[in-house]
Amino acid sequence: MTFVSKLEAALGKAQVVSDPSALQDRRHDYWVLSHFDDIDGRPAPAPLCAVRPRHAEDVAATLRLCAQEGIGLVPFGLGSGVCGGVLAASERVLLDMSAMNALRFIDEKNLLAGFDAGHNGLAAEDKVAARGLTIGHWPQSIALSSVGGWIATRASGQLSTGYGNIEDLVHSVEAVLPDASVVTLGRAPRAAAGPDLRHILMGSEGTLGVVTGVTLSLRRQPEARALSAYHVRAVEEGFEAQREILQSGWAPVVLRQYDAVEAKRGFPDHARENKGLLLAVHEGPRTRVDAEQAAVAQICEGAGLAAALVAAVERWLERRNHVPHWKDYLAQGVMLDTVEVSASWSAIARVYHEAVRRLQEVPGCVNASAHSSHAYRSGINLYFTFAVAPGDKTKMRGAYEASWRAIMEATAEAGGGIAHHHGIGRVRRAYLHHDLGSGGLALLRTLKRALDPKGIMNPGVLIPDA
Ligand SMILES: Cc1cc2nc3c(=O)[nH]c(=O)nc-3n(C[C@H](O)[C@H](O)[C@H](O)COP(=O)(O)OP(=O)(O)OC[C@H]3O[C@@H](n4cnc5c(N)ncnc54)[C@H](O)[C@@H]3O)c2cc1C
Repeated sequence: MTFVSKLEAALGKAQVVSDPSALQDRRHDYWVLSHFDDIDGRPAPAPLCAVRPRHAEDVAATLRLCAQEGIGLVPFGLGSGVCGGVLAASERVLLDMSAMNALRFIDEKNLLAGFDAGHNGLAAEDKVAARGLTIGHWPQSIALSSVGGWIATRASGQLSTGYGNIEDLVHSVEAVLPDASVVTLGRAPRAAAGPDLRHILMGSEGTLGVVTGVTLSLRRQPEARALSAYHVRAVEEGFEAQREILQSGWAPVVLRQYDAVEAKRGFPDHARENKGLLLAVHEGPRTRVDAEQAAVAQICEGAGLAAALVAAVERWLERRNHVPHWKDYLAQGVMLDTVEVSASWSAIARVYHEAVRRLQEVPGCVNASAHSSHAYRSGINLYFTFAVAPGDKTKMRGAYEASWRAIMEATAEAGGGIAHHHGIGRVRRAYLHHDLGSGGLALLRTLKRALDPKGIMNPGVLIPDA
């Protein structure tokens, strides 16, 4: 009996996909390098088969069989990851979570909603919005990603500065561990009942278990919204204004600061020559929104920032989920990627200048720019966009790797964090020690060995080889 037949016998034929053509579009996520390899004659192989579970029990049955036979299992949410977290190999099983897509409940009194892990993010938001509520989690990929994927990658939404990142919005997580046991972690608004085990799954990228259900904490839709925009002469000036806003106790749901390159490219009708832009969205009860907008104006104007047209923020709101595909650029010989990092207020300007300088030194660099999109009392993120066109196809991979190295090393040397919200996947594995240190890496490996002694869960992702 083949392994695929065993899966079919355990789960039913309808839940096991082995038709090669049906497996083609499940070969990888959005990681640009794997798309480049596709067109460069090294296409990612299709998996052995895909399993489409309907319940946690189906996931457990699949894990049991994989463990028995030592077959690798790759959880696949909706495939919008950008770090190579889903790159199935021909000998592995892909666990396609998209058929686990039920809304489990909406609890309007306690503002909670439970979803199967494969539930589409935008569809989840639409369902709670129909009750006047919001999850408040708006990754740019909201229409392309699953709620389980949000947990597995520790995602951040565009409104995170006010509403928090996914770890702030999760009430409980249901998961199947590699030994096929089912756990539900989190039951009350807060607990001091030992370590918070939900965090073992958050950011685990399919290497420590399969997330099968998520209960998210909701909000009422805001009563009011207001917008603010300012021109920024030097990046440091905008960072200082943002620091002052947050450390004074204000929390605009959105604070985004574009450098001069991105302001000109993204807001051609609003940006001024050689100036960046700082955009803010204020949401909440009307009185707080008005007070926050006035306080932000006072802080920005006091810091010498000139007011810009709020039409710039309206433009961003209209286009914020527009998703260009790498393939259009690759076809023109341009290799590009986006890389998000974070650092304290003391270090962020150094990260920005040093990463841009090093990117510009990569042969063929045609763009090195950044904006910030998630801010905290202690610091802020940066989201770099690089593009290289080395003019010779054989040099594209090298230029891509050199660009990543430039940002990772500039960030690490300044004491920053190498991954703000896209996760580690394959592209950042070699840099993980910068964040975890050797002790943290050893702890992660100990967890992996304890939970997944046979190493079947998403091999090659997140955890660097020893
Ligand atoms: C255009 C674009 C914009 C983006 N914008 C944002 C953004 O604003 N913020 C942000 O945080 N991210 C963003 N991303 C990245 C991506 O959308 C997120 O990482 C998202 O959370 C991935 O969800 P997914 O369901 O598509 O996961 P997948 O891509 O399918 O998987 C990602 C990783 O999680 C694992 N995984 C998925 N589901 C499960 C599960 N149920 N159990 C265990 N492991 C699982 C996979 O094995 C893989 O390692 C963007 C991506 C694109 C393409």
